[in-house]
Formats: sequence, C-alpha cells, structure tokens
Amino acid sequence: MMGPPGAGKGTQAGRFARERELPKISTGDILREAIREGNPTALAAKERMDRGELVDDAMIISIVADRLAKPDVKAGFVLDGFPRTVAQAQALDELMERLGLGPLIVVDVAVAEPELVRRLAGRRICSVCGTNAERLDTDTCAPCGGRLEQRADDEREVVLERLKVYQQSTRPVLEYYRERPTFRVVNGAQAPDRVASELNAMIDDAVAVRGIS
Ligand SMILES: [Zn+2]
Repeated sequence: MMGPPGAGKGTQAGRFARERELPKISTGDILREAIREGNPTALAAKERMDRGELVDDAMIISIVADRLAKPDVKAGFVLDGFPRTVAQAQALDELMERLGLGPLIVVDVAVAEPELVRRLAGRRICSVCGTNAERLDTDTCAPCGGRLEQRADDEREVVLERLKVYQQSTRPVLEYYRERPTFRVVNGAQAPDRVASELNAMIDDAVAVRGIS
C-alpha cells in the first residue's frame, strides 16, 4: 500500500488486513516496538524520522526481511510504509522471489498536496498504541485510553519536509511499479468507506489478472 503521508494509507492498510485476515506489516509499528524496548539502532532511526528524514535502506530492509521470514505471511500480507525508495523496492522483489511469495500488488492511495497539508497539520496520535486520533474533542485514545499528542513529525515545517522527501524518494518507487499489470491507483480524497470499497475491488481485480485466488 503506497501513498504520501496523510493520504490515509495506514488506516486503509489496517482495515484491509483485518477484513482479509492478513498480517499487516508496518515498518513504523516495528520501529515503535523496538524503540519501546530501547533498541539503540531504532532510537537513532526515530531521531531521523522526527526530523522528517528517511531511515537508511539497509536497516529497513533487514527489518522487513526478518518479518517476511515468519510463516504467517504465506497466505498473503499487507505492507504499510514500505518500500519508500527504489533500492527498497528492488530488495523487496528479491525477497519475494527468494521466499516464494507474490505476486506483489501495488495500490497507490493518491491525494493532492494542499489536502495533505491540511490533514497533517491537525493530526494527533496516541502516545501509547500509535493509533491516529479520529476525534478532535478529546485527549484520550478511543481504543486504549492513552494520551493523544501532536505527532513530533506533524509540525508544519516538518510536514512540508516530509512531503518533499516523499516527492524525491518515494515518487520514483511508483514509477518503478507503474507499468506492472498489478499496479492500481485509488482516489484517497474520497470518504474512507468509499476508498475502502474501491480498494477492495481493485485488489480483487489485480489478483484476477494474475490468476491467483
Ligand atoms: Zn491508544
């Protein structure tokens, strides 16, 4: 699942994974977990993310390789937040090939930049479980009761930096995938339910193209 920060990609990825009973593999979640455990590499990575920068490819690729080696991915999985660079995309192709997984279906959740800035500026996240806050009238996380905080990486300047980094690094990843028969684009500016239903149909269609079920 691809898309710029603020497109709702993470929410859609989580929803799709739940509905299809597939594991959702989010490099952000894996990093947050490692940070809670005090892993020094993960802490260094978080500092970079807080500045709106990308974490280096080798570290992220090794995180994903470890995760894809677990048996629960055999029937399919949803990747959220990976790959973010062409080097990561190439590494993913090699991993899928080596592990006998695939084919890879790529969906881009597309939203125009002014709408992304508007969305990101007001976004808050749970300091305990990492869930995005949907309501503005409370400081308490609905799923877990944790405290909601403005994300460190959501201050306006950092938002613009993140979008710039996205344009520079992740756009080429879309170009890397664009000509594949399993590449799709969904309009992420629509209501989340509408995005979800279009996305479901697109993925079923992409699966059918490849003759898998
Ligand atoms: Zn929470």
